[in-house]
Amino acid sequence: MGGLLGVLQILPMTESLWFRNEDLADASTKQTERISTRAQASDSEFLKLRRQVDRLTLTCQSMWELLRDGSDLTEDHLMRKVAEVDLRDGSPDGRLGSTVIHCESCGKNTNSRRDNCVWCGAPVERAHIFEG
Ligand SMILES: [Zn+2]
Repeated sequence: MGGLLGVLQILPMTESLWFRNEDLADASTKQTERISTRAQASDSEFLKLRRQVDRLTLTCQSMWELLRDGSDLTEDHLMRKVAEVDLRDGSPDGRLGSTVIHCESCGKNTNSRRDNCVWCGAPVERAHIFEG
């Protein structure tokens, strides 16, 4: 008799645990769906950036060939210039990097990557035409 009573007392608890497991499974499924959605968005952003890099590479190659064919410049000239521009931020890392520039409005130093001076908000000129 005590055994049956014990089972009857435990039954509501196991039912509660069963519902709790179902809630956890639902939460896990929703989290998996969110992660999958984010992964798809990242893949899409990656492909978009890759297309941009491909277009920029094609444009750079075309511009270089126009310049080379219309002048005495060689690839050696180009590579030396690339190295020189790369070093302008003090780091030979293959990136344009940011540089410290003087704000013409307030005279303080600001970052060339920003559209506006961090001190006075005046528009700042970019150190490089392709800097973004
Ligand atoms: Zn300023």
